[in-house]
Amino acid sequence: MQPFDIIVIGAGPAGSAAACWAARHGASVALVDKASFPRDKLCGGLFTERSHRYYREIFDQELDFSRIVSRKNIEFWQDGTRLARVTDVPPLHLTMRLNLDNQLFSQTIAAGAQDFSGQAISEVASNAVHFRNGTVIEGRILIGADGVNSIVARHLFGTPFDKDTIGFGLEIEAKSEDRSPDLHPLRIDFGAADWGYGWAFPKVGSTTIGIGGLHAENTDMKAKFAAYLDRLGLTSDANRIKGHYLPFGDFRTTPGRGNILLAGDAAGLVDPITGEGIAFAMKSGQLAAKAALEALARDTPDDALPLYKEQLKTIHRNLRIARTLRRIVFAPRWQSTLSRSFRRSGTVRLQYMRLLAGEIEYPELARRVLLRLPRYLLTALRR
Ligand SMILES: Cc1cc2nc3c(=O)[nH]c(=O)nc-3n(C[C@H](O)[C@H](O)[C@H](O)COP(=O)(O)OP(=O)(O)OC[C@H]3O[C@@H](n4cnc5c(N)ncnc54)[C@H](O)[C@@H]3O)c2cc1C
Repeated sequence: MQPFDIIVIGAGPAGSAAACWAARHGASVALVDKASFPRDKLCGGLFTERSHRYYREIFDQELDFSRIVSRKNIEFWQDGTRLARVTDVPPLHLTMRLNLDNQLFSQTIAAGAQDFSGQAISEVASNAVHFRNGTVIEGRILIGADGVNSIVARHLFGTPFDKDTIGFGLEIEAKSEDRSPDLHPLRIDFGAADWGYGWAFPKVGSTTIGIGGLHAENTDMKAKFAAYLDRLGLTSDANRIKGHYLPFGDFRTTPGRGNILLAGDAAGLVDPITGEGIAFAMKSGQLAAKAALEALARDTPDDALPLYKEQLKTIHRNLRIARTLRRIVFAPRWQSTLSRSFRRSGTVRLQYMRLLAGEIEYPELARRVLLRLPRYLLTALRR
């Protein structure tokens, strides 16, 4: 078999985006995944307008909305008290990852990537992937998009992440007989987990309910989840609860080595405040593919990493600022001041929603928070 221009390992949002972009731009691409599609991925499945915009740009088509619930209202709660119900927000699309990822994967194969899904990898080398069934494929550039437990990151750095610096989430799928998701509120619950939050995302036939936060700050996460389910009037059935790590704030400043790049969760690109990962997964996949294409055009595959790092600067800057802001947003001493401000101020709520929709970025949000900081400080001191 001829060496591929690019081998992409992992066919989630990051890997499909990378492979689709590269294939659409004429590269020969192998798309590898240990799972066969459709496959599930533990996730709230909230697909924001930011994700939607990236999706259309990368895949050059419209999403199939037939099984997606789109909402323009959301409720924010804190410890059992409703802080606000916000209406007329930019659409929030509630997807099932089984369907969403299958769609991205199928579109990528249709764009020309060669399908190596459903095959377990035994070893990753700098120019090749070895499968357990004995097949070996070679590639000039490798893109590791194999999630938070990335074997490509392990191959490069010994371990994907330090579990004490990233996040963890628990979820259940609460099946519902009534198929009218519009009757159920889409809600975010601050305080359901420390340095994180809880969520209830209504979909067709079920609601995805979960909590997530910094792993090190939530050693009792199962108990917190049971309390959250109780608050929502649901019983905690341990058999249905699933957990997964998410790289919530710990990103790799140098996402790769030599001719190997990391994208999406494998590179740690989850928003450390909102927990959104799908948008930056797709965007980083596209940027990795762009860098790879340029390095191949120069005939110097090792140029891909410096090119990619340069292209990732905006995302990295956003994540750095978000990590700093998180110390205010989630720190226990600020919680009551912030929730009061969230309840009273339409501006604060609007900025949060605009951030989710990708209408503003963290540098602008940080400027606005800094302007309000003296007022927060005064309120906190008066208490
Ligand atoms: C509980 C929870 C809730 C979340 N909710 C949201 C949300 O509502 N909205 C949002 O935007 N983000 C959310 N996220 C984050 C989001 O799920 C991730 O950021 C996103 O899936 C990252 O995409 P990815 O393509 O990088 O990785 P993944 O989606 O994890 O895909 C990785 C792929 O690599 C494959 N793979 C893994 N190991 C190997 C291997 N050894 N060999 C071959 N293939 C392999 C997997 O099968 C998979 O297909 C949530 C995360 C968690 C844990």
